[in-house]
Amino acid sequence: MRIRTIALLLFLLVTGLATAQTKIPTPSEVLGFTPGEDRKLASWNQVVDYFQRLDGASDRVMFQTLGTTTMGKPFVMATISSPANLARLEEFKKIQDQLADPRKLGPLATRDRKAADLIRQGKTIVLITCGIHSTEVGSYLSSMLIAHRLASSTEPEIQKILDNTIILLVPSLNPDGVDIVKNWYDKTLGTPFEGTDPPELYHKYTGHDNNRDWYAFTQVETQITVDKIHNVWHPQIVHDIHQQGSFGSRLFLPPYMPPVEPNVPKAIVQGYTELGNYMAAEMRAKGFEGITTNSTYDAWSPSRAYSHYHGGVRVLSETASARIATPMTLKFEELRSREGYDPQKESPKFGPLWRGGEWHLSDITKDMTTAAFLLLDHAAENREQWLRRFYAIGKEAVRPRRPGEVFGFLIEPANDCEALLNILRRGGVEITTAGTNFKLGTSELPAGTKLVRMDQPYGAFAKALLEVQHYPNLRDSTGHPIAPYDVTAHTLSLLMNVPVHAVKAPFRYQRATGTTSEVAAAQNGCAPAPRKDLFAIYHSNVPSQDEGWTRWILDSKTISYGVLGDKELRAGITVFKPSPSVTGKYYVILIPDQPARSLLEGYRSGSMPPELSGGLGPQGVKTLRDFVETGGTLIFLNRASNFAIEQFKLPLRNVVGGLPRTDFYVPGSILRIELDTSHPLARGMPKETVAWAEDSPVFEVTNDPSASVPATNVHVVASYPADKDPLLSGWLLGGDLIKGKAALVEVTMGKGRVILFGFRPQYRAQSLATYPLFFNALTSK
Ligand SMILES: [Zn+2]
Repeated sequence: MRIRTIALLLFLLVTGLATAQTKIPTPSEVLGFTPGEDRKLASWNQVVDYFQRLDGASDRVMFQTLGTTTMGKPFVMATISSPANLARLEEFKKIQDQLADPRKLGPLATRDRKAADLIRQGKTIVLITCGIHSTEVGSYLSSMLIAHRLASSTEPEIQKILDNTIILLVPSLNPDGVDIVKNWYDKTLGTPFEGTDPPELYHKYTGHDNNRDWYAFTQVETQITVDKIHNVWHPQIVHDIHQQGSFGSRLFLPPYMPPVEPNVPKAIVQGYTELGNYMAAEMRAKGFEGITTNSTYDAWSPSRAYSHYHGGVRVLSETASARIATPMTLKFEELRSREGYDPQKESPKFGPLWRGGEWHLSDITKDMTTAAFLLLDHAAENREQWLRRFYAIGKEAVRPRRPGEVFGFLIEPANDCEALLNILRRGGVEITTAGTNFKLGTSELPAGTKLVRMDQPYGAFAKALLEVQHYPNLRDSTGHPIAPYDVTAHTLSLLMNVPVHAVKAPFRYQRATGTTSEVAAAQNGCAPAPRKDLFAIYHSNVPSQDEGWTRWILDSKTISYGVLGDKELRAGITVFKPSPSVTGKYYVILIPDQPARSLLEGYRSGSMPPELSGGLGPQGVKTLRDFVETGGTLIFLNRASNFAIEQFKLPLRNVVGGLPRTDFYVPGSILRIELDTSHPLARGMPKETVAWAEDSPVFEVTNDPSASVPATNVHVVASYPADKDPLLSGWLLGGDLIKGKAALVEVTMGKGRVILFGFRPQYRAQSLATYPLFFNALTSK
């Protein structure tokens, strides 16, 4: 009896000590609140602090800094698995590497057997990415809840997840934005503006477009994620956690609505369909309401789905938003339809009904954590199936191409060829140099022509970026065009003006012997030398992504520029530079793509603090007009051109303005334009080039007697061809309406001029083909 008592005491002492040693900190112990509490956001420092403590306390969590963000913050990742798995990470990476690229398994005859061995040993690799869109605050907060449960739980299902999967958890793909949003939220807390979006881009350059960079790889956050996570681990599952608007479904899960980009493997579509449907069914069984699948979000653009071309499924989740961290109350009648479902009606794509009521940040984190653990359950339970599918995708990718299939693409040397090749290389694509031996028909291609074969692991990624997109003409039951979720074209070879030729199998070529002449990488040869005080960019209080991209392009080329806001322009100051010695004044002002009304009026009245409201207003318009009339150059990009036509009463008409989508629609496509190369704006350009059109105006010169200048003041620099289909890649409805109409014009006004682009010449830092037009506008006088 006595011995048993001592033994019991000893047992209690030892287990007590063990518990003390491995006490896993809860998020609330570190943050001072539980993630999901109303009106509480964590700073990025607090998130990093929490994960560091978790790493210190748990043998299931390894935390590391992978790089530095645009604004100098640590970009971090936690690797979470069983301690035994964490001790063998290099082995699991090697397994992944071989299954991703079956050529590494040796002779064809024994590959399947070797792969079967590796599939038995391997783990499902799950990448969970949070917070790319920083106003969608639920996910970076949920990352701490997910990590805590994985680190601390003794539940058998968690043990199963830890044993069978390796979880790569990125608490935020945009750490800078965590603090941008928190600072604004805290500043406006308790004011009438609590819960509004910050009046600046939540990524310094790209804002919401940071999730449109997964093939151009322009931003450091994208580069870190691709180089140090995707390409190292080749995850089978990527769970990308987002939030959507407040008035639709409570939660979206895959499958995606059509169309699926044709280079996405069928096995990927099966994978996200099975997993998304499983998660939706389990959540419905647990009593969650308002869930939609197969709606709103498509799988068309590689700009959002790197993994779809790299052996992994992307499981996007989109939970309904509150007002940042402030709860809201919604009435059932307020819920609004989106593509594919009506939240007031049950259907195969939506249900069960959510009847409205309060919606808190905790509802969002509950959706997110529940969905994430269901995803992890599936990844663990079906480990071998996920690995088999992954191997099958790799095997299909590397098989020899059959006669008639695309064997590969020949890429001719060109000005921006190296920019294109670097993108392909970063995406894991192998490129062959073969000197002068490539022939197409009877003509020999130039020295330095490259070949990208399709029989390699990521050939489909290259194919998607080198071929033309034929976006399907999708209509709803009323005949109305169904809007794509994002844009419809991603042909980089067109956007970068690099000639490419698809060649069919069988294709025979010889590798050149000796040295091959490489084409010098003269990237964007038309970029001007930095000239201080030459030009300024207009910065609206209403954040414009196009403005951010413009700043990124200039900063990345170390071209200096000034910034002019509403306040300066409304103050009526003279901004024109009368002589080179005057500082703080400019020859050129650029107005990036933004709707005309938003430029003029800014935020809707009363929606933001008075000092941020008002837009350019009549006084700003007058300042800009004076600027032109005294000799300045004013450049308007895309939708901003409508502002110039209206406010300056130019003798121009937007021929597609106000047309319904059934008559004219161009939701992000590559069109063909013809240039007047004798004009200084088109200096260095070919006769024909591309134009990125997206909600773009199309100009016609008018003889309106009430216009401020005569029609003869308008010079058409670029126009859509009169006798050819303007569409090169993507989707265009009503193309006949724009044939022969103008796409780029210069209008002289007083001593200066106004330049109107009816397209986006520096679209998302991808349309290198039209950078010369953009830079010529900024620098030519
Ligand atoms: Zn989002």
